[in-house]
This record gives sequence, C-alpha cells and structure tokens, in this order.
Amino acid sequence: MTGLQFEGKTVLVTGGGSGIGRAACQRLGQEGANVAVADLDKKRAEETVSLIESVGGEAIAIAADVSSEADTVAMFDAAKQAFGGIDHAFLNAGMLQPYVPFEEVSLEIFDRVLAVNLRSVFLGLQQARTRLRPEGACVVTASAAALLGFSEAAAYATSKHGVLGLVRSAARAFADRGLRVNAICPGNVLTPMNGVPQDNAITDVLDDPDYRGGLSAQHIAEVALFLLSRRSAGINGHAQVVDAGYAAAFPPFDAE
Ligand code: NAD
Repeated sequence: MTGLQFEGKTVLVTGGGSGIGRAACQRLGQEGANVAVADLDKKRAEETVSLIESVGGEAIAIAADVSSEADTVAMFDAAKQAFGGIDHAFLNAGMLQPYVPFEEVSLEIFDRVLAVNLRSVFLGLQQARTRLRPEGACVVTASAAALLGFSEAAAYATSKHGVLGLVRSAARAFADRGLRVNAICPGNVLTPMNGVPQDNAITDVLDDPDYRGGLSAQHIAEVALFLLSRRSAGINGHAQVVDAGYAAAFPPFDAE
C-alpha cells in the first residue's frame, strides 16, 4: 500500500475539537481524508477545520451533542451531504467526571456520564453500521478504565467498560455489512481532559513515553488511524490498549 492512506475517503470524527479527536483529524487531513469534525463546541471544531485546511485538507465542522439521537443522525447526514458518503467513523467524544469516592457519585453525574460516553456509542454504532460504505471501519475511544475499576471515577469506568461490550457485540453486525468495529483504550493522555493545555503539534517521529507515563494525543490518534485503515483489515471486535504499559502488570498503580 502506497500513497496517502485515506485519499478519497470521508471520515467522521466526534470530539474532533480537542485532544485525541483533534490530533486524529489533523492526521486524517494529512493522509488525504475529507474530515467531518463533530463536537459539542462548534468553535473548537471550526479551529480543527482551519488546522486541516492549513495543510491543504478538506473538512467541515458540525455542532453535535453525541448523547442526542437527533444530533447523531444529523451529524451523519451533514457528513454525507458534504462529501457524498461516509467511509469511516471515529466515535471518540467523551467526558470525565469529577473525581469523588464511589459513595459520592450522584445519580445526575452517573446518568450524564453514561449518556455522553456510552449511550452516544450505541447511537453512533447504529448509524455507522447502516451508513458506512463497505470496507469502512469504526473505531471507538474507550479507556484503560474499561479494563480496570476506578475508585474515584466509578461512572466513568462503568461507561468505558460498557463501550467494550458494545464494540464486541456489534462486530458481527458490522462484518455482515463488510465493515469492522474496534475500540482503543488509552492510558493517561496529556489533553485538556486531564487539565493539560491543547497542543496542536503533529510530529513525523513519535517519542517513546516513559513506562506508565503520559502519552500525547498523537500517540492515540496514530493507532486510531491504523484501526480505521485497510492495514488492520484482519481486526474486528477487539480493543487495543495504548497506555505505555500502565495496565500491563502489577501493581496497577505506582506504590505510594
Ligand atoms: P478532550 O476533553 O481534550 O476532548 C474531548 C472533546 O469531546 C471536546 O472537544 C469536547 O467538547 C467533546 N465532547 C464532550 N462531550 C461531548 C458531547 N456530548 N458531544 C460532542 N462532543 C463532546 O479529551 P480527550 O482526552 O481528547 O478525550 C477523548 C476521548 O478519549 C474521550 O472519550 C475520553 O474519555 C477518552 N480517554 C481520554 C484519556 C485521557 O487521559 N485524556 C484516557 C482514556 C480515554
């Protein structure tokens, strides 16, 4: 396989206004994709579009709340209308919860986190399965918190465990339509979600992060692009951990 990996392909990216989603949009733009950048924050999505256009790519910004069925349908409609069809979807938008002990998680927080992180993926997968063109793929951003419990973020960890259940369960339905669906499980990524200012830098050569250390958004984006691309044609219904070894061995957290 030579040339640009996503030449002539259209990719819808949710949460494309920041962090992992923005890095994926930038890399997809470099690889020749038409990128539909969806985000709750339209202004941030428009900034991502400008970054893509500044390197000669094509993109549109879409305002959408991924927990809304109507917004989810409308965002797929908008991408199709702009580019004539959709090949791939990166369902990446998500939210963190305030860190509190398990017994202090309010029902309001629980319901909102489950809606934004899990209901959204159900809605997005239902749309992607029927609307992606054959040979397309869907990637969903789960988390290392899909593999380990999280005492200070029970709603978040629960939502991400659920994401893996959806991805594994949807694999057959996707395969029946000539499509694939996989998850990615990032560890600690240095993005605005973790209080780190947005960094739009994209590099040709990634650094090796420290063992169990922080990763850049691009570390995650590169694996998302691989799972969206034909290079991963043999992978369906699985989760790829990208965590610099964080969840690989005991102890799961550094001894204090
Ligand atoms: P981020 O906060 O930098 O970006 C998240 C983006 O999602 C923002 O632009 C935000 O506006 C958007 N968003 C939030 N709620 C939305 C909604 N309801 N509808 C549409 N868009 C919405 O965060 P990030 O670190 O890039 O996180 C991206 C994904 O990666 C999330 O699913 C997150 O749970 C997951 N993740 C992040 C980390 C990490 O350490 N940063 C680790 C594991 C998993």
